[in-house]
Amino acid sequence: MSDNLVNGLSVDVEDWFQVGAFEGVIDRDQWDSLGSRVERNCEAILEMFARADVKATFFTLGWVAQRHGPLLRKIVDAGHELASHGWDHERVFRLDRASFAADLDRSRKALEDAGGVRITGYRAPSFSIDQRTPWAYMALAEQGFEYSSSVAPINHDHYGWRNAPRFAFKPLPWSDLIEIPVTTAHFAGRRLAAGGGGFFRVLPYGFSRWAIRQVNRQDKRPAVFYFHPWEIDPQQPRVTGASMRSRVRHYTNLDVMAKKLEQLIGDFAWGRMDLLAHRERALAVDLAA
Ligand SMILES: [Zn+2]
Repeated sequence: MSDNLVNGLSVDVEDWFQVGAFEGVIDRDQWDSLGSRVERNCEAILEMFARADVKATFFTLGWVAQRHGPLLRKIVDAGHELASHGWDHERVFRLDRASFAADLDRSRKALEDAGGVRITGYRAPSFSIDQRTPWAYMALAEQGFEYSSSVAPINHDHYGWRNAPRFAFKPLPWSDLIEIPVTTAHFAGRRLAAGGGGFFRVLPYGFSRWAIRQVNRQDKRPAVFYFHPWEIDPQQPRVTGASMRSRVRHYTNLDVMAKKLEQLIGDFAWGRMDLLAHRERALAVDLAA
């Protein structure tokens, strides 16, 4: 029966030059001069979702919203949820409370203007809410957000809040805001990030199927999965100058990603993150208790 759980499907909408792996090589003031591929890639994703008759959440940068209004309307018109991925992919732990609140407000307004809908969901760039940023949830609650999916409860070289709960939690005593961490699986005594990114693209598909089944059947909870528009785009320009490790992570298996995604979407039930948040609220662990 637990295979009937509806899992959360999400796309982090950013262009090929906006990823964390290349931030040391490409400056923000170059972005407007680089050829954008986010629209064509999102349109391919919308077609894939339509063929599978599945709805998802598009966590979108305010920077993208400001430049690609028609794309945002298409996402909304197709029945998907539009949510925030911050303004320009600055990681939350590099901001302070005031600058984070400003980033959040600016991106939310750009998304609401372009999409014509209220924005209630947030995903931090590079899962950058962690033990260093307790003020982030206060800013989210103050601006009317209802859920965040911004925590990777693991140890990783780029990110992670190791001791965070694996499933939904309520970070503030005075607000109903919940955090829904990205999916992790237990493997060889460790927690692995199993909700997308390199785990999904680089490893054989069987690992992801095993991990999501483990979460659905053993934990009896929904999984949260994410990917990026650039991950289905083998023709994207190659960035030189980044570390070998970054380049390997970024460019491996781009050509087989769409096929893997189609298989994943067919093997499990998927839906929007706001609906998942609605169901998970009753199960959320109270961090203040
Ligand atoms: Zn991102």
